[in-house]
Amino acid sequence: MTKTAIVIGAGGFIGSHIAKRLKADGYWVRGVDLKQPEFAPSACDEFFIGDCRNPQVVDFIIDQKVDRVFQLAADMGGIGYIGNVDNDADVMTNSAKINLNVADTARRQGVEQVFFSSSACVYNEYNQIDPQNPDCREDTAYPAHPDTEYGWEKLFSERLYLSYNRQYGMRNRIARFHNIFGEHGTWQGGKEKAPAAICRKVAMANDGESIEVWGDGLQTRSFLHIDDCVEGVMRLMDSDFEGPVNIGSDHLISINDLVTMVAEIAGKNIIINHITGPQGVRGRNSNNDLIREKLDWVPKQDLRSDIEKTYRWIEEQVKADQ
Ligand code: NAD
Repeated sequence: MTKTAIVIGAGGFIGSHIAKRLKADGYWVRGVDLKQPEFAPSACDEFFIGDCRNPQVVDFIIDQKVDRVFQLAADMGGIGYIGNVDNDADVMTNSAKINLNVADTARRQGVEQVFFSSSACVYNEYNQIDPQNPDCREDTAYPAHPDTEYGWEKLFSERLYLSYNRQYGMRNRIARFHNIFGEHGTWQGGKEKAPAAICRKVAMANDGESIEVWGDGLQTRSFLHIDDCVEGVMRLMDSDFEGPVNIGSDHLISINDLVTMVAEIAGKNIIINHITGPQGVRGRNSNNDLIREKLDWVPKQDLRSDIEKTYRWIEEQVKADQ
């Protein structure tokens, strides 16, 4: 019997990579999104354009008992988008509607497992003040104080999927992604995240020129390549652990050092021009103790070579765009 899966948000960065992996693993895959994947044709067997805020669309998409649903759709972007109060109500309403629809329709169709993509943005901002020692152990999410409404919606939806596990005996799984990057990710337009934005700025700059960085650049983050992320998701779905669990890198790096790394890869001398802009929390790093314990696995995370692959891809996009 062929295994079956539905990917919600299959036109997005992570969703399109998950669809590709499911096909490679022998699944029949249906995808839905507001848009087609931007950079390569979808790997899905069937792909529908649809708005999952509408319950009728979700009923149409999840119209049968499939083995697994992967819910990646969200109204999201980098800190320039989710940190902008002008998007607060949209971010909360749009994503919550999608999750309410997906959880309920999956349950009614007898789907056992939904994967929900939560985020490191759920963590309490008071634990992320020291850039060198952020504390993102899973159990520190409560008492809750995320720094954005995006994080609050993720916390609500984590609880939503877990409530279906308790009340209806589903086996939903939850991961908190930490800054996933890689080829075929958004690299321009305002929704891109730091690694893609830095790669684009460096690719567009001439040797010796400057690029703008928001804040003093001493803020820290960790970045995980998409291939490691997809592997973690598949392992979590195969496991007995429901989560929430971090899927992220624990290689902490400041934004200034990330710029230096990208400039070295590009072979350019780049000057950093620090400007005022949204920065999010001061420091954030994945804590991988729980995933190591529960899945007996951690991402392999080779930041330099992963950033190099991504830089080369973004450099091609920049050239093609000129
Ligand atoms: P993405 O924006 O590339 O993908 C999300 C997709 O959802 C988009 O293609 C978008 O069109 C689609 N979508 C939005 N609203 C929709 C709607 N109403 N109906 C149907 N489709 C809709 O983002 P991504 O980086 O691939 O992220 C995937 C998931 O992982 C999201 O839930 C995000 O919150 C979560 N996440 C991502 C990261 C990261 O670093 N990329 C970090 C933490 C959490």
